[in-house]
Amino acid sequence: MRNKIIAGNWKMNKDLSETKGLLNDLKTKVGAGLGGVQVIVCPPFTSLALAAELLKGSTIKLGAQNMYFEDEGAFTGEVSPKMLKSAGCEYVILGHSERRQIFGETNELINKKVKKALASGLLPIVCVGETLDEREKNITDQVVTSQVKGALREISSADMENIIIAYEPVWAIGTGKNATPQQAEDVHRLIRKLIGQMYNWTVAEKLIIQYGGSVKPDNAAELLKQSNIDGALVGGACLKADSFTQIIQSANVV
Ligand code: PEP
Repeated sequence: MRNKIIAGNWKMNKDLSETKGLLNDLKTKVGAGLGGVQVIVCPPFTSLALAAELLKGSTIKLGAQNMYFEDEGAFTGEVSPKMLKSAGCEYVILGHSERRQIFGETNELINKKVKKALASGLLPIVCVGETLDEREKNITDQVVTSQVKGALREISSADMENIIIAYEPVWAIGTGKNATPQQAEDVHRLIRKLIGQMYNWTVAEKLIIQYGGSVKPDNAAELLKQSNIDGALVGGACLKADSFTQIIQSANVV
């Protein structure tokens, strides 16, 4: 039985005072009642050090939304895994569809980042998912398969214990149109089977696969009930303590 992991991707939201407000609110609402659910918040870079300070003594973990694959150097505007670690991060989201679509990230680049994150002791949350056009062309399975294979190229089975995969259909992100529990479960099962083929069934069974794409308090429970859905990567609904807490609570009861 895998524990549920709920992560909140704040995207480019919340300045320092808003970060303080949201995290204090979240700590009060979530309290000690996380049960077996692991909660991760991923604020923007500018809020990470403050968030780490505010989360001291809490079981809520900290993650970043992106990183570069070098420790330091002439890479204007980039942030390194070493910097993320020193700011208090344990997790890092890699290959989010907004990074792929808006910033042109490829599977090859994402793979470099995954390797560097692992080597630096950060736990990557690797995002994959098809566009609406790809779903309509019935090539979801091929797209997701090539994204998973591309992102995990040369990753050892030992390292797989430190990776989370987030299946996020692009057409469901920020649109209010979530995948049905069955649509999501089908792709999650495909990913687990693929990991079983690439590694072995022990690795596949342990892998946490989160669903992301318009997860809200009113649809979280049904999604999280599916046997291959081990958590959620939440965008919009994590920006308010109330809705994020309700999603966490849904994970606690399934
Ligand atoms: C996301 O950003 O990963 C996401 C799933 O966003 P939303 O929940 O707003 O669809």
